[in-house]
Amino acid sequence: MKYYTADYILPITSDPIKNGVVATNEAGKIEKLGTKSDFGDIDVISYEGVIIPGLINTHCHLELSHMKGICQTGTTLIPFIQDVVKQREVDQDIIKEHIAAYDQKMWEVGIQAVGDISNKVDTAEQKDNSPITYYTFVEMFDFMHAPMTRQVIENYRAVFRDQSDKGHNKKSLVPHAPYSVSPQLFDFINKANPESRTISIHNQETLDENLLFLDGSGEFKEFFGAFGVTLEDYEPSGKTSIHYTLENLSPQDKNIFVHNTLSTEEDIKAAHNWSENIYWATCPNANLYIENKLPYYKNFINQKAKMTIGTDSIMSNWQLCVWSEIKTISQYQSYVPLTELLQWATINGAEALGYQDIFGSLEVGKSPGLVHINVKWEGENTDLRHSQAKRIC
Ligand SMILES: [Zn+2]
Repeated sequence: MKYYTADYILPITSDPIKNGVVATNEAGKIEKLGTKSDFGDIDVISYEGVIIPGLINTHCHLELSHMKGICQTGTTLIPFIQDVVKQREVDQDIIKEHIAAYDQKMWEVGIQAVGDISNKVDTAEQKDNSPITYYTFVEMFDFMHAPMTRQVIENYRAVFRDQSDKGHNKKSLVPHAPYSVSPQLFDFINKANPESRTISIHNQETLDENLLFLDGSGEFKEFFGAFGVTLEDYEPSGKTSIHYTLENLSPQDKNIFVHNTLSTEEDIKAAHNWSENIYWATCPNANLYIENKLPYYKNFINQKAKMTIGTDSIMSNWQLCVWSEIKTISQYQSYVPLTELLQWATINGAEALGYQDIFGSLEVGKSPGLVHINVKWEGENTDLRHSQAKRIC
């Protein structure tokens, strides 16, 4: 057994413990949790600051790890995607090297589980051997172009089959975004996934996405044209893009909506009326990187939305670190309570990915990982500016 202590232990699902001790066995499973006086004479490993459970990153694209710095910041989404598409083929060894490096970096900054988007199988081998648990979302798109759907499905058969599902790893098929998936492809995804799976979809990341559905304007039509796809028969619904997603996804699944930069309270309400199993993943640093914009978190708090945190890929971020995302939110929208941010980053993410029985909080029987944060804990007034997250177990 190992005994870890800090000024405060934050179990997340129960109150902070001053001078708390958390005891883990060799496998990292929590055997006991309490104050020093509950333990008697033990050798403790001491930290200044706080200890929290391992962090959950609900949105990443590990396979893009070799693309750091290739896109300019602040261009907005469509020019950003065009930058990506222009990139030449990269040597497979270099891709694998970067995947391994960022997997390792995520582990060191305390990330325990990742909801990871994959369009290829490049990350599968790393995920098989990583200490991080991965839920791989095999992401499909057909540019809303039904003539492409059959071929897309055919192409993805092997991509899905070869993803890692070793240990606690899981996988599901998911749609990319409302503007890139036809109703036919949504239908295939709904039928192909086994029950009680988690689905993830990019949502309302850029203004053009809403415009396409509201009145057919915006840059997406021209963008599709560059891929030889014309949306001749496309009829805008007059409603924001999330309504199209709600019409086509299954409300019984756990659904993670990602980004939500432009989601209004009306959008969130509509989604909550449709299903109770919705998680809203926010990737603030990626939103600043691509669009120089953040979601308005008050809309989500007002609607009691279950929030989670994602890093997105290193192509649209300066690091893959959930703690850095918390610092960004608390810097730009400091009214969001820190205790809620901690829940977003841990137990909510664990629930969204179906790992709430093993990760997401410090509770006896769980193996959530332990992360040290070097802050002076003062509840909601805690100053996070110079803090960092570091894995200790
Ligand atoms: Zn993404």
